[in-house]
This record gives sequence, structure tokens and C-alpha cells, in this order.
Amino acid sequence: MSTILLDVEALQVAYGDIQVVWSADLQVREGTTTALIGSNGAGKSTLLRALSGLLHPIGGHIRMSGRDLTGASPQNFVEQGIAHVPEGRRLFTGLSVHDNLMLGAYRRKDGKQAIRADIEKMYALFPRLAERRNQDATTMSGGEQQMCAIARGLMASPRLLLIDELSLGLAPAVVDQLVLTLQQVRAAGTSLLVVEQDVGIALEMADHVYIMDQGRTVRHGPAETIAADPSILSAYIGT
Ligand code: ATP
Repeated sequence: MSTILLDVEALQVAYGDIQVVWSADLQVREGTTTALIGSNGAGKSTLLRALSGLLHPIGGHIRMSGRDLTGASPQNFVEQGIAHVPEGRRLFTGLSVHDNLMLGAYRRKDGKQAIRADIEKMYALFPRLAERRNQDATTMSGGEQQMCAIARGLMASPRLLLIDELSLGLAPAVVDQLVLTLQQVRAAGTSLLVVEQDVGIALEMADHVYIMDQGRTVRHGPAETIAADPSILSAYIGT
């Protein structure tokens, strides 16, 4: 079995006085896709925000390759190889696709040439972005914006990419294409942790699946095991 990249233990996260994540335990192994599913309001996005340093946990631990990142800044998380594709994509208005991708690389210290080479890799991975490199990113279709947000995340050269709501609002054909592209990303060495509302998509793309319910990770297992036991899904997600 591959080594553990991300290790989350008994994590608790709150917005001020309102605690949302009560106990999250989760591991992502190197070279795998892990999906996090659960009903609306279960705390999935909140957990992902804590895993990129945007929220500071009030309890528990986050470790990346054994290094404790609990309470670290978003910059530290990026430096340790975690990039976050937020819900709603959050591209920069008025900036071209190219400039959005450049901003994804702003913490890198490996020089312009390496960054330029990676931008070309992104255009090879997402040919649609190459065609639209000079277009204002926020004027593109939802699918193209999701491609741009993923490519921007990858420009940080992460070992782990967190993607919040991969398929939300996108046409099935676009989602199929994104899933195929993400298989290439994983094969090239970037592990994935994906929050996904659509259980079918999550089970299709993931090696391992975690179910979150009311702020707790309640079940997890290989995607085939979860898929083979509909009672698990109906208990927590009502499918
Ligand atoms: P969804 O799929 O609906 O986005 P989720 O599992 O991702 O669900 P979260 O978005 O993490 O869930 O929300 C969990 C809870 O945290 C909800 O009750 C939500 O209202 C609350 N919450 C989210 N963001 C904030 C915030 N900025 N301030 C206060 N409470 C928040």
C-alpha cells in the first residue's frame, strides 16, 4: 500500500462560536484519489478550508508527509504541497486565463522557465484553455472556468490537490472530460482529495471514499466497497 500523504486526526473546526466540524479523521495516500461525500451542510467545504490553512482548527491534527501543519498559514500549506480549488472556482475577474495560471504559481521559487514549462503543460492538459489563454477567465463557460481553476491549482506544483465541488452546475459531458483529465493528473503524481455532491461521480473517480455526516467522518472504505453496500449511502446521504 502507498504511503500516507495527508493525515487528519480528530479535527475540529469552528466559525467563531459555531462549531461545524466535530471529529474528522481522514487519510489520503500517495498516488490516489480520495472522495469526500455527505449531505448538504455536513461540513465538507469547511474541512477542506481547514486543510488549506484558510481556517484554523480548534482541535486535532493535520499532518502532511508527517509534518504537523495544524494552525499553519495558507502559505505554509502551499509550501508543503497542498493546493485548493475552492467551491465556485473564484477566478480573478478582469484577468486572462494566462494571468490566472501565473497567479497560481506565485509562491514558487523554481524560476520563470519552470513556470513557463508548466503553463504549457496545462495548455496540453486542457486544450480549451490554450485556445482561450487571452480571454477574461470569468467570461468563460462553467466547465472552462472549472478547468482554469484546476489548472491554477496545479500551477502551485502541489503533491495534493483539494477540489471542492468538482461537478457542481456542469453538464455531464464536461464532467466526464474533467474526470478523465484528473486521472492523468493523478497518474502524473498529484494525489487528489475531491468533495463531490454527486455520489455516482465520486464512486467512479475515487479509490477511497469518506462519508461525512453532521461534522464527523462516519464511514470510509474503498470505492467498490461503499458502492456495493447501498445501505451505507442511504443511511447518510439518502440516495
Ligand atoms: P454543502 O455541500 O451544502 O456546501 P458542506 O458539507 O460543504 O455542504 P459546509 O459548507 O462546510 O458544508 O457547511 C457546514 C455548516 O457550516 C453549515 O451549517 C454552514 O451554514 C456553516 N458555515 C459555512 N460557512 C460558514 C461561515 N463562513 N460562517 C458561519 N457558518 C458557516
